Amino acid sequence: MKTRTVPDFITIWHFLEEMAKTIDKVLPPIGQLRIIRQWAGLYNMSPDRQPIYDKVDEVEGFYVACGFSGHGFMFGPVTGTVMSEMILGLEPTIDASRLKLSRFAEGKLFTEPSVV
Ligand SMILES: Cc1cc2nc3c(=O)[nH]c(=O)nc-3n(C[C@H](O)[C@H](O)[C@H](O)COP(=O)(O)OP(=O)(O)OC[C@H]3O[C@@H](n4cnc5c(N)ncnc54)[C@H](O)[C@@H]3O)c2cc1C
Repeated sequence: MKTRTVPDFITIWHFLEEMAKTIDKVLPPIGQLRIIRQWAGLYNMSPDRQPIYDKVDEVEGFYVACGFSGHGFMFGPVTGTVMSEMILGLEPTIDASRLKLSRFAEGKLFTEPSVV
């Protein structure tokens, strides 16, 4: 029989305490805030915890910018640049060729170590 893993949405005090200590060090004014609730959710992960930026050859006009592995807000500006240049066929400002979709089939992963 196939077993299914149930995602864990539980919020824990330990996370809140550790995050509060860290934030207080990095941005002291935030230490004055009162926390009234916390929230837990899932984010999508790619196998190497790096985003995927590519044109999907099998589907005409279909482009993907996904797999941000919890860093999607931070990647927002560069994602706009990379994808708009790709779609318009412009010279890329930065080389994102290692983030192609085909890297999974080719086994050319490069793992991001700082994603938890
Ligand atoms: C718990 C959590 C913590 C995170 N923490 C961070 C962080 O600290 N730093 C950071 O940089 N990133 C963080 N992220 C990641 C970040 O939120 C995502 O990577 C980012 O929001 C992805 O942006 P997106 O536009 O690709 O997708 P989304 O923000 O998911 O937007 C997709 C949109 O498409 C809509 N949609 C879906 N299907 C359809 C459909 N068929 N038709 C029409 N609309 C549709 C959805 O309703 C949604 O509005 C976190 C994510 C989670 C869940």
